[in-house]
Amino acid sequence: MLSVEEARERVLAHFQRLPAEEIPLPQALGRVLAEDAVAGENLPAFANSAMDGYALRSADTLGASVATPRLLRLAGEVPAGRVYDGMVRAGEAVRILTGAPLPDGADAVLQQELTEVADGGVRLLAEVATGTSVRAPGEDVRVGQLLVPAGAELGPAELALLAALGVHPVRVTRRPRVAILSTGDELAPLGQTPGPGQIRESNAPYLAAAVIRAGGEPWPLGIARDRAEDIRSRLEQARDANLILSSGGVSVGDYDLVKQILGEQGNIEFWRVRLRPGKPLAFGLLGATPVLGLPGNPVSAAVTFELFGRPAIRLMLGARQLERPVVEVVLEGQEIERTDRRQFMRARLASRHGVLVATPTGAQGSHIISSLHGATALLIIYEGEGVVRAGDHLTALLLNDALPWGNE
Ligand code: AMP
Ligand code: MG
Repeated sequence: MLSVEEARERVLAHFQRLPAEEIPLPQALGRVLAEDAVAGENLPAFANSAMDGYALRSADTLGASVATPRLLRLAGEVPAGRVYDGMVRAGEAVRILTGAPLPDGADAVLQQELTEVADGGVRLLAEVATGTSVRAPGEDVRVGQLLVPAGAELGPAELALLAALGVHPVRVTRRPRVAILSTGDELAPLGQTPGPGQIRESNAPYLAAAVIRAGGEPWPLGIARDRAEDIRSRLEQARDANLILSSGGVSVGDYDLVKQILGEQGNIEFWRVRLRPGKPLAFGLLGATPVLGLPGNPVSAAVTFELFGRPAIRLMLGARQLERPVVEVVLEGQEIERTDRRQFMRARLASRHGVLVATPTGAQGSHIISSLHGATALLIIYEGEGVVRAGDHLTALLLNDALPWGNE
């Protein structure tokens, strides 16, 4: 049996970053940048006013105060989106609005609140230094500066930054196509009433959603019955996939055909990992297409996808971070026995007085689908002897990208 690390390494060795494609920036939410985005211009591109007020020469404000106002001649106006054609001379002020380019000759803006309108001019009630209320070119971003590095995932903030610098269209890594096959005579698809002895299929919806969240594009292959021919022909259809995920048919039962087919047709890499849930895990190649044979039990399928499938997708995306963030937590609730297999327990995290407390989400059997709901983390119980108890410090993988815990 392989350790989790060995298995992961062997799986990931079969993947590489996919080619890039160019897409319109507004469609790039959640995509991974394929190359460094570098500023081709300054931001702001030109000196502009941070206030509504008056553009002037700071030297003209010397000595101005409420008690001793100074009077300047009003020479014109410049709203945002216009350029003042002319020069601000000594003794002159130009009315300026927020975002408007600073006129030539001016070196500061006196905000409106520190002025009074006077006959034919403006009364200054305060002094200002050079640069006051002026946004300098490049003060936000300098030309040549790295905006967002290759491998970063684009969120709303990154889209705003790239838009502000005119990075559009944007080069992102192609989304991996991930084929999803469920196997089992007992499985009834969504929308069909299960016959006697059948159950409702739930791994495909889980995996399709998890693939999307990971940045991939799901490719449904449906349900194969427990017959070699059915599984084989569905797998054949997906030769162009970047990854095939199957679930079921990898343990030691008579009908465990996925393993057998991978063994015959391709190249089976391993099939048991020191892991709970999810010990029976197959990995192989069908031609050049990697196949990850996940166990059929819904929780095992979810956990093994998380540990092996998701990082493979992230690797194909060229993502900087393949792994989920790991946090230190304090265990609450039941005692847990360590075993010779690494255990991953569904848990809910709460922040209590600044400490993250992890509570397992009920029964941990690999068929308990309800325990996946509400789990915000996978608690890691490393291999070993003895027990871990309430109050012990453990590590956990954060499952959600946002709001992984609540406050208590
Ligand atoms: P297997 O790995 O094929 O032996 O399946 C292990 C357990 O998982 C059995 O109880 C199956 O009925 C169940 N199972 C397998 N595939 C699915 C699926 N797609 N959805 C829900 N349960 C499944
Ligand atoms: Mg089965």
